[in-house]
Amino acid sequence: MTKVAIIGGGQCGFHLAFGLLDRGFEITLYTDRTPDQLLGGKIPSTAFLFNQTLEWERRLGLNFWEDCAPIGEGMLVDFRDPNGKVMMTVKGQLGDRSGQAIDQRSKFARWTQEFERRGGTLVYRAIDMSELEGIAGDNDLTLVASGKGPINALFARDAERSVHATPPRNLAAMLLTGSKLIGDHPWPKASFRPLRFNFVFGVGEFFSLPFYTHTVGECRSILFEACPGGPMDRFQSAADGAEMLEIARGVMSDFAPDDLPLFEGAQLTDENAWLKGAFTPTIRHPVGRLASGRVVMGVGDTVCLNDPISGQGANNASRMAEHLIQAIVAHGNAAFDADWMQNAFDTFWNSSASYTSAFTNALLNPPGDAVMHVLQAASVQPHIGDHFMRCFERPSEYWPWIADLEEAKRFVADRSLSHAA
Ligand SMILES: Cc1cc2nc3c(=O)[nH]c(=O)nc-3n(C[C@H](O)[C@H](O)[C@H](O)COP(=O)(O)OP(=O)(O)OC[C@H]3O[C@@H](n4cnc5c(N)ncnc54)[C@H](O)[C@@H]3O)c2cc1C
Repeated sequence: MTKVAIIGGGQCGFHLAFGLLDRGFEITLYTDRTPDQLLGGKIPSTAFLFNQTLEWERRLGLNFWEDCAPIGEGMLVDFRDPNGKVMMTVKGQLGDRSGQAIDQRSKFARWTQEFERRGGTLVYRAIDMSELEGIAGDNDLTLVASGKGPINALFARDAERSVHATPPRNLAAMLLTGSKLIGDHPWPKASFRPLRFNFVFGVGEFFSLPFYTHTVGECRSILFEACPGGPMDRFQSAADGAEMLEIARGVMSDFAPDDLPLFEGAQLTDENAWLKGAFTPTIRHPVGRLASGRVVMGVGDTVCLNDPISGQGANNASRMAEHLIQAIVAHGNAAFDADWMQNAFDTFWNSSASYTSAFTNALLNPPGDAVMHVLQAASVQPHIGDHFMRCFERPSEYWPWIADLEEAKRFVADRSLSHAA
């Protein structure tokens, strides 16, 4: 039986672990946190998953929150000037691409227990470089899915595919309860339950998503993405979640006062429901070579780390896991060498991850002519708004019109024509 070791119990590691276990592989998963540590720890993320990713989780039998997590049905986006004045509003419904956001603390804790129940071998330990040698020697394939963990230094930065040298945003996120924030359509401007985005030009962005956490059930996340040194960049001195929430109210009052009433009475879901920090989005070479010459492969955020502005990281991690499961199965009994790893990564990069990164990086900059053309059309033609938002599930579908004004004009004209017909 082919033996696979996976380092890291997160979105990518678990997706690979369950997918390969189902196909008869012998899996050992190394993870640095027990279920109790996960449940009682700080939130690592506020990830929203689109239906394609949820569908894979359903197929793997990992959809334990299907009936209790609120559904994010579409996006409501205000583009604002640096003073918070709304310049353009774009809405779009996701339809059959709607998704859910589940607290990764709840999710990874439950999946950890489920993995053992299904016969996987689980080892609770933070793996370091020296231990990787032994693990790689004992297994046919070793996959490093440790997210932003320090072990990813084993994988060299890919200078051609990485565009950032410093963090483009300083991040601050919270999970909130509040009677006005939850329910079917909390934002009066949308007739559906929205992912609420505010883009404040030159200042930063903030997003609020329908969310589920084990501590209270339905709630709402909010994530601030502050341009470093700008007027939204106020969160880094906050000592705890309560201070962060106060700062958040100030930011909303300054840049989106119309949203503020919805946060009246809002409270943190629990004392650990907050995070702050910054990281540099980085694409890394997928092959890590150990001192012995053995090779291990980086997957998920370890090698494709994007800013959270586009809500893609966990979706991308699962897309990569799906791609790799197919590639591993197709490889049969042949050796998983450096060429196989590089090829498996490159085919994923070319078909999917390159678009995800390009789309994410585009959102970090003011929209170009092509995007503005489509967004202006979307602001008055709801079906174009729907189309635009639905592409979040598969960013490659934004091409070619997202990057070329002539293509954008053709896209809008074609969509308008087909809608009229
Ligand atoms: C504020 C914020 C908001 C986000 N919003 C979204 C969103 O809306 N949609 C979206 O798709 N993505 C979003 N993301 C990104 C998403 O959370 C990540 O991209 C995704 O979790 C990556 O999955 P992964 O498996 O590669 O890494 P992770 O999920 O980070 O998992 C890595 C795991 O490895 C473990 N680990 C680390 N080092 C070791 C070690 N040495 N030994 C053993 N175990 C180790 C860690 O504890 C962790 O459990 C967001 C991220 C942030 C920070």
